[in-house]
Formats: sequence, structure tokens, C-alpha cells
Amino acid sequence: MDKPSKPEVDLAASCACGAISVSVRGRILAMLLCSCLDCQKATGTGHSAVALAAPATVTITGETRSFVRPADSGALFTRRFCPTCGTPIAGSSSRAPEAIMLPVGLFGADTEWFVPNQLIFARSHHDWDAMAEGLPRYIRYRDSGEI
Ligand SMILES: [Zn+2]
Ligand SMILES: [Zn+2]
Repeated sequence: MDKPSKPEVDLAASCACGAISVSVRGRILAMLLCSCLDCQKATGTGHSAVALAAPATVTITGETRSFVRPADSGALFTRRFCPTCGTPIAGSSSRAPEAIMLPVGLFGADTEWFVPNQLIFARSHHDWDAMAEGLPRYIRYRDSGEI
């Protein structure tokens, strides 16, 4: 049976040092991979793996630090991370306040629900970063055209 594209989850995770806890209880809104240059810098690899969830379904406990930068779109993009161990905790865009972006690796082994259905910012994707054959790729966002 196909896995749902908007799975219902009940997840708990913490950063590498344990200072920050994250729980997600509710429906995942979207699942994607992003190879924008900012995600490459933030993850140290070729792309980020992201699940979007409504803010009301996400609880973050502990003192995070934030880094805010302007995105290409003109929106402000905020990344929250643990100030001690540097684990990425969450991201958000001023353009889409109804969604929190969760770095899927945060949830460790408990990610069988994650089935990304698109690669965004494929314009900066590198060939050395292997991708599933047939995954839809978009130059920027999904509405900006397929490549
Ligand atoms: Zn930490
Ligand atoms: Zn990105």
C-alpha cells in the first residue's frame, strides 16, 4: 500500500546534546527535498530533507538560537538551532507562517513516514548528490516549472 502524502504523526526527538526537545503531533502537510545553496550550507551536504507541519502541532522545548536571512523571494527565512550542539531544529519563512519546516534527520530512526515527492531548487543540485530516479524536480518552487 502506498504511504500517505500527508501522514498523521506522533513524534518526539531531541537535539544531539539533549537541551532541546521537539514533539510533533498531527498531520504532516508536505514532504520535500531542497537543494538550495542555503540548505547545502546549513546541512553540510547536497540537500535538506524537510517535513512541513502546522505550528499548532509542533512543540519546541528549550532555548534555541535563530539565524534570519533574506530569501531570494524577498521573504525572511529563520533557522532555529541548538546553541550548544548546533543541531538544526526548525525553519520558517515569513512568506508561509502557517508552516514550520522540520529537518527530518532530527527524528533519527523514526522516519518511515517520510516520503518526499519533490526536489525544489534543483537549479543548484549537484550530480554527486544521488537522488531517487523519477523524483519530480523543480527549478525553484513547485509552481516555477519543472526541469
Ligand atoms: Zn543540543
Ligand atoms: Zn533549501
